[in-house]
Amino acid sequence: GPMSLRVRASKGVHLVVGRDRLAGETGLILRTETSVLFVIPWGSHWIIGTTDTDWNLDRAHPAASSADIDYLLGQVNRVLSRPLHREDIEGVYAGLRPLLAGESDATSRLSREHAVVTPAPGLVLVAGGKYTTYRVMGADAVDTATAGMAGVPASRTARLPLIGARSFPDRRMLAQRYEVALPLVDSLLSRYGDRVGELLDLMADRPTLSRPLPGGAGHLAVEVHYAVAAEGALHLDDVLTRRTRISVQTPDRGLACAEPVVTLMGEVLGWTPAVREREIEHYRARVAAELESQRMPNDRTADAARLGAPDVRGGA
Ligand SMILES: Cc1cc2nc3c(=O)[nH]c(=O)nc-3n(C[C@H](O)[C@H](O)[C@H](O)COP(=O)(O)OP(=O)(O)OC[C@H]3O[C@@H](n4cnc5c(N)ncnc54)[C@H](O)[C@@H]3O)c2cc1C
Repeated sequence: GPMSLRVRASKGVHLVVGRDRLAGETGLILRTETSVLFVIPWGSHWIIGTTDTDWNLDRAHPAASSADIDYLLGQVNRVLSRPLHREDIEGVYAGLRPLLAGESDATSRLSREHAVVTPAPGLVLVAGGKYTTYRVMGADAVDTATAGMAGVPASRTARLPLIGARSFPDRRMLAQRYEVALPLVDSLLSRYGDRVGELLDLMADRPTLSRPLPGGAGHLAVEVHYAVAAEGALHLDDVLTRRTRISVQTPDRGLACAEPVVTLMGEVLGWTPAVREREIEHYRARVAAELESQRMPNDRTADAARLGAPDVRGGA
């Protein structure tokens, strides 16, 4: 097989708007000139995306430009009787697809498949791939790496349940046992699966953790506590952009709940007031840089604006 892999980064931008902005009940798949566009119901919101363009700028924080946003609004507005406007947007996020480079120039034509190669004995590389095929990708890489090793069985990823997916607890029984409302159990179940009891136990021990986060798009204080205590969150942006998606579910990008969130995080992580302040400042700068980049006309100017906010972890 080939001795190396060439990967190209393709930027994809999604918009998030409130559920009441579109009248429909179900998702939509729209044909575009080069690809397709999805309109996906997502709790109290819709997700609209995506773009598919080459990206050769900062890979840590790909930036959505004004052109990306206009493209998405233009495409979706072709089929809406009540068009969407900039003001309707509560969140914008951009990601990079690591696509195996092929013959085509357009990233939308590149394969979403993955490849495993062994450029030198003992070194296995895996590249490309996507979410829906990650187990196949993992099995291919592991099986390649262990091929020829005596007594090592084939990858068993296909039989391993995801975290939280071992069982599906009885919602009514939980509501009764913990004396909480069914919709609350349902919402926690949909996020935590069979770990839901851990959160309900925390709430029973400390009733203040049952409170909704002010400005937190319906998330509860306990989710912040759990993100730090059990899910490895170390920084404010871990909680607002990764463990939850509050950063794209509120028009202010989560700024209103930054203060209560750092207070909850700080209790577990032992933060001083100075650390709490630094976390908030970093997040504020990140939001400002993202909003600024989204006003820029093209990738180059959007990237320059996004680079204005350094990473909270330091380094590039
Ligand atoms: C625009 C777009 C559209 C896509 N569409 C599809 C699709 O339709 N179907 C499909 O199957 N797949 C799709 N994918 C691919 C899919 O999103 C990825 O395969 C999947 O998210 C990879 O999961 P992961 O957990 O490996 O990495 P990620 O989801 O990238 O998670 C890694 C996490 O680690 C965080 N992180 C990185 N460095 C650090 C650090 N130093 N400290 C702390 N945290 C860190 C990152 O911020 C990130 O949150 C798409 C990808 C993009 C970008």
